[in-house]
Amino acid sequence: MRQFPKPRVVVSACLNLKPVRYNGQEVRDEFVLKLLPYCEVVEVCPEIAIGLGVPREKIIVYKRDHAFGLSQPATGLELTERMESFSEKFLSGLSEVDGFILKSKSPSCGVSNTKVYKDPEGREFYSKGKGLFAMRVLEKFEDIPVEDEGRLRDKQLRTHFLTRLFSIADLRESFKRIEKVKDLMDFHQRYKYLLMAYSQAKLKTLGRLTAQAREENLRETLEEYKKVFLEALKRKPSVGQHTNAILHIFGHLSRNFKPSEREHFLKLVGDYKKGAVERKLLVEFLKSYAYRFENQYLLTQTYLQPYPEELEL
Ligand code: SF4
Repeated sequence: MRQFPKPRVVVSACLNLKPVRYNGQEVRDEFVLKLLPYCEVVEVCPEIAIGLGVPREKIIVYKRDHAFGLSQPATGLELTERMESFSEKFLSGLSEVDGFILKSKSPSCGVSNTKVYKDPEGREFYSKGKGLFAMRVLEKFEDIPVEDEGRLRDKQLRTHFLTRLFSIADLRESFKRIEKVKDLMDFHQRYKYLLMAYSQAKLKTLGRLTAQAREENLRETLEEYKKVFLEALKRKPSVGQHTNAILHIFGHLSRNFKPSEREHFLKLVGDYKKGAVERKLLVEFLKSYAYRFENQYLLTQTYLQPYPEELEL
């Protein structure tokens, strides 16, 4: 059974943590509630941090002269500078963060669906966008997953988020312990099929980096490896990319199968490509056979278990 490191995640304080919303409430979210015990949580409420109380009048984001600002229409308070300076200080002080889960629709934390107005008084609606704090998070942490609880209700986005989160935490923890080239090779081997699903080109680059690593340039190689690894995990794989990785894994096992079993599996792959079955079914099938044939190489592949299975909703 795979042991998972605890990802270090920055979470909006109102998401199942504290009743700090403008109306004195918190937000219950089933997935976030389930995930929090598996993480090391850094909580943040930017609006409290800039001196607003609970409860408080609503604040809004506006866009004027190509720049975004933050204001509290009911009191006429202009909050842009306070939020910009808090964001800069807080985000610069963070170290070893693997991801963010922020509150959707919020003028501060929203990664999506935040109402943006044309004026600080909130008279005229401009468009849907992001909160001011979230904008700065996305600018500063473009290599790690930043999502809000609203977007994470989408199963595919959630799977992608969890895969990135636990892989990045694993890289962070594993790299602290790497002392020899062989340790890097072991790490790379575990991620072969996950990287294959995410990006064949990056898998190749990382394979070359690993092959060229020497004890004397190990630290530089790890830095370069980390950069490419984070880049590789940015884009959600397509069904075709997953199918390719699945068929490669199947290749390790297929000689143990009877022709009828092989045929059955390939039919399931066809069904997956048509959207008739979920990828999880194929992964569980491969995992069961890897156990049955005691294929240790496959059993260590993170592709077969990228994050704790209790987090599947
Ligand atoms: S959305 Fe962000 S700023 Fe608003 S209450 Fe939650 S943590 Fe605080």
